[in-house]
Parts: sequence; structure tokens; C-alpha cells
Amino acid sequence: MSSKIDFVYPNNGVPHSKTNVESAPQSDVQNSRVKIKNAIITSQENLTDDTFLLTVKLDNNEVLNSHAGQYGTLKADELDKPRAFSFAKSPTSEKKGEFSFFIKQVPGGLFSEYLKENRTGQKIVLSGPMGQFKIDESNEDMICIAGGSGMSAINAIVEEAAHNKVKRNCYFFYGARAQKDLYLVDEISKISEKWANGYTFKFIPVLSEEPEDSDWKGGRGFVTDYFKDNYLKTGVVKTESCKAFFCGPPPMINAGAKVLEEAGVSQDSMFFDKFEDARSPAPVIDNSKCVLCDECLLVKPTADCIVETASLSGKKENGKFANIERVNPAFTSGLYYNTLYIDEDKCIRCYACVHACPHDAISPQHDLEPKTLRNIVEI
Ligand SMILES: Cc1cc2nc3c(=O)[nH]c(=O)nc-3n(C[C@H](O)[C@H](O)[C@H](O)COP(=O)(O)OP(=O)(O)OC[C@H]3O[C@@H](n4cnc5c(N)ncnc54)[C@H](O)[C@@H]3O)c2cc1C
Ligand code: SF4
Ligand code: SF4
Repeated sequence: MSSKIDFVYPNNGVPHSKTNVESAPQSDVQNSRVKIKNAIITSQENLTDDTFLLTVKLDNNEVLNSHAGQYGTLKADELDKPRAFSFAKSPTSEKKGEFSFFIKQVPGGLFSEYLKENRTGQKIVLSGPMGQFKIDESNEDMICIAGGSGMSAINAIVEEAAHNKVKRNCYFFYGARAQKDLYLVDEISKISEKWANGYTFKFIPVLSEEPEDSDWKGGRGFVTDYFKDNYLKTGVVKTESCKAFFCGPPPMINAGAKVLEEAGVSQDSMFFDKFEDARSPAPVIDNSKCVLCDECLLVKPTADCIVETASLSGKKENGKFANIERVNPAFTSGLYYNTLYIDEDKCIRCYACVHACPHDAISPQHDLEPKTLRNIVEI
């Protein structure tokens, strides 16, 4: 029997591996909430010059039980890392076992380069579902703000809301650069026809770089400024009873959250699907807060981004450890590993672990030296 995994043994139901199993994620990890499924790319179509609609279908009629607003990771054999992408349609509007993604190409990007060729018919591994972004259960007005390929999760959420005939008003602001960057405008506008009777669904595209003299009659400027000046200040949107849903690049989300916060909307009423990327910091685990509950291990998208270590040693100039000794059952007698460590080279910045940790022990803001439990006990 050959295997790329040196050893696997159960620890609270979570298998540990000594070597990198990223390249062979062909089966579900026992008890993990993230399922790893083989799939095929069924189509790759241009939505704009630099944005694709990618559709994948799971092999063998398998399904993933996801909800609107969640995301998955895609990993092609040719690539050494997966990338996170939001499910762009509500499960109620997808065919069984199929998933659609809106993917923006980034110059020189790993996955972006992969999509330079049409990949229809190729195999791909889809892992998921991940994330807690979803429509809440209140009846308050929905303010949705998306930018670029952040159309994905918001599209899924409004499709779901329309399907369930939620009795809420919904204002969907979409930021793009110019008319050539808009897509699915007719389809989204038509959601109003399916919306609950007596309630408003309004789609408001806003362009930031559209030429002054063009025929564009819609909103102009940054989407968050446009929302503030034309809907918030004028009282069209009532902030005393609203929930906000953001999806897209972190700067747009931060700007939108600030506008709403200044208008008195609490953080509890704002929900985000932030497209962190390789420029974002890798999170750090504060092992003095960690209770080894394993929640982060149950949601991690790659085998080696969070590792269970027996020891950390050999500080590098950047403060990270040069020698990371993985837990080896042959030398570890206890049930528990010593310290959890995020390997920033393997981390794809999905922040799934940050959201999953019930003890606030994982944060991109932590300016911490990772410590072994022994260090912590000695302090
Ligand atoms: C939860 C989550 C959901 C996501 N959902 C989507 C989605 O639905 N659609 C989608 O298109 N993307 C989504 N992303 C972003 C996606 O995961 C990748 O980061 C993005 O596609 C770039 O991947 P890449 O491999 O092509 O580039 P990389 O190889 O990761 O990056 C190449 C270079 O480009 C820089 N870079 C990365 N992104 C950008 C950018 N937007 N603008 C400028 N420079 C950049 C990097 O810092 C790096 O220097 C999501 C991210 C997260 C965390
Ligand atoms: S953010 Fe957390 S869960 Fe996501 S890849 Fe990095 S370490 Fe893993
Ligand atoms: S989720 Fe938080 S507390 Fe639990 S093992 Fe991970 S870091 Fe530790």
C-alpha cells in the first residue's frame, strides 16, 4: 500500500499527519466540517474582461450541504495551494452537486494564471462548506454592499431571500469600475419579480471610473460614498432597523462598515464575507488563550496551515520559528499536542480559523511570539 501520508492517528477524532498531505486531499477528513470532494469543471465563461463564471460539479452525484453565503476552496492538481471562493448562487438555484463561482483575475495570481486557459472538463478538488456568513432571521431591512467579484455571496443571499419570500426590504449596492465591468445586471434586477409582495428589492450599481461623458445614468463614485450620500443621509434607508451584508475587498468593506457605524448601526448588525488575499497577514494563535478545543482544526482548508507541534525552536529574523517539530505519535505519549502553530507559508488567509475559535485565541492582529505550553506554564 502506498500513501503520501506518513502516519495518521486519531486525536479527538482529528487525524494528524506528519507530512504535507495537501497534494492528496482525495477523501474527507474524519469529523472535519470541511468535506474534500473531487469535482470537474463543467464550464468557464467570461462575465467581463477579467471575471469568470466557473461552474464545477462534484463526482459521483455527491453533494455538499452548504447555505447561501458560504465559500469553498478550489485546488487544481497543477497548483500547490488552494484558493477560497464564495459560492455565487444559493443552493436553491443550483443543480444538485453543482457550484458556481465568480472569479476575478489578478495579474500574476496563482489561480488567475490557471484560468488563462479554458479549463472546462478538467478535474478540480472542491473543499467546503466554510464560513458563517448568511442571511439572519430578523425582519429588518437588508443593506447589501458588494464590490467586484464580491457579487458572489451577496447574489447567493438575495437569491435565497427571494426564494424564501422573506418579508424585508432589500437595497443591493454594487460597486464596479465602469460599465464594461458590470455583469448579471438583468438577472439581479429580475430578483425583484420574485421578491415577497409588498416589500422592496432594489439593485443599485455604482461606477467609480466610468468616463464623465458616457451614457451611464446610474450612480457614480465609490459605492460606499454613494450609499451614504443618496440613501443614508436622505433617510431612504432606515438605520434604526437594518442589517448590513458586505462582500468583496477588505477596503470596501471597512469603508462601508465605518459609514454604518457612524450612522449608529452596531457591529452586531453587520455581516461580512471579506476577500482576504495573499497581501493580508496570516493569523497568529495566542497559545495562552488556546484551550485545545480543536475547532480551528475542524475548519481549516488545507492539511498543513495549522499544525500541532511538539516543539518550536530556532528563531528567524522575522520572529518566526525555523524548526517546527510536528507531533509524532511514536514520541508523544499524551493525548494532546503541545502547541498549535500557523504556518504562514501554507496559510491561504481564509480566516476560517479566526471565526471558528470560540476563545478569541486566533487573530491577524496578534503581535505574538508563538509559545509552547511549557513556556506558558513557566511564565
Ligand atoms: C473567504 C474568501 C472568499 C473569497 N471569494 C472570492 C470570490 O468569490 N471571487 C474572487 O474572485 N475572489 C475571492 N476571494 C479571493 C481569492 O481567494 C484569491 O485571493 C484571489 O482570487 C487571488 O488569487 P490568485 O491565486 O489568483 O492570486 P495570488 O497568487 O493569491 O496573488 C497574486 C498577487 O496578487 C495580489 N492580489 C491578490 N488579490 C488581489 C486583488 N484582488 N487585487 C490586487 N492584488 C491582489 C497578491 O497579494 C499577490 O501579490 C475570496 C477570498 C476569501 C478569503
Ligand atoms: S486563515 Fe486559518 S484556517 Fe485559513 S488557511 Fe490560514 S491558518 Fe488555515
Ligand atoms: S479554536 Fe482556538 S481555542 Fe480551539 S484549538 Fe484552535 S486556537 Fe485553540
